[in-house]
Amino acid sequence: MSQNIENIRNVAIIAHVDHGKTTLVDQLLRQSGIFRSNQEVQERVMDSGDIERERGITILSKNTAVNYGDTKINIIDTPGHADFGGEVERVLKMVDGVVLVVDAFEGPMPQTKFVLRKALELNHPVVVCVNKVDRPEARPDEVVDEVLELFMELDANEDQLDSPFVFASARGGYASEDANAREGDMKPLFEAIINHIPAPTGDVHAPAQALISTIDYSEYLGRIGIGKIENGVLRVNDEVVVLNMHNAETQKKVRITKLYEFQGLQRVEVKEASVGNIVALSGIENIMIGDTICSPEKPEPLPFVKISEPTLAMNF
Ligand code: GDP
Repeated sequence: MSQNIENIRNVAIIAHVDHGKTTLVDQLLRQSGIFRSNQEVQERVMDSGDIERERGITILSKNTAVNYGDTKINIIDTPGHADFGGEVERVLKMVDGVVLVVDAFEGPMPQTKFVLRKALELNHPVVVCVNKVDRPEARPDEVVDEVLELFMELDANEDQLDSPFVFASARGGYASEDANAREGDMKPLFEAIINHIPAPTGDVHAPAQALISTIDYSEYLGRIGIGKIENGVLRVNDEVVVLNMHNAETQKKVRITKLYEFQGLQRVEVKEASVGNIVALSGIENIMIGDTICSPEKPEPLPFVKISEPTLAMNF
């Protein structure tokens, strides 16, 4: 199931709280064709808040993947809060563009600005989704102007100032380039993502390198590292070297025992995954954020973004 790199899009979704990020991803999932018609989409798909509170930490971005035609779109949730500074940057470094969701009545809000600033700094292309156009008080045209003003305030580059705008009702399940359309499907948003956000780059023939950007934990598997394959191919049972700032010298070899890609809301076990994909892997004891998993052939670390203490997130 591993995709050719040209058929992958890795995007982060940015929004102020309540502007409809969850509903939008839910709608993209429903329309992505990966669900059989008799299979109900779990309600509130991205909101696994209860589990997180139980675990005592609310951090990390959640990954979803939707298929549109032959293309797989990995969608990564971005925390909007300033306390997640390092986390936001790590998420943004995994992706090649962002979808900015803005409420058609409220317009840009503080969290919109906080994360957008970081995305613009990374020169990411942006697809703007003005959401909730069905609201009776919606004022999409003014919101477009407000978003453009924000772009200018944040020193957006020319391409970013030229970002496509899509007008949507995530709740209603439609999107359009026309601010006044009130029906249809999400196709215009899928198309804007595919056409405006580039495929990842990297060399499939180079020795494997993946950067661990998130850690998850499972009772059965222990620590799970999530990150993007920047070069080459990872395979189950491959011997790899784990590099980080603490063991740049040692180069201990370990084996990947399980490898997953994201599909819909799930992790799907795969035998191999190639460049551009975002994967989860287990079998590496003590795997850490910032680790580079690489082929022993060419053990070179990738640059990573340090994070502030995750304890910052404990009081959410
Ligand atoms: P999030 O915090 O960004 O994930 O926002 P949610 O997806 O949870 O949405 C926040 C609220 O806005 C919920 O009550 C949604 O039902 C509502 N909402 C989301 N999308 C739309 C929309 O397109 N139109 C309207 N009218 N309400 C929406």
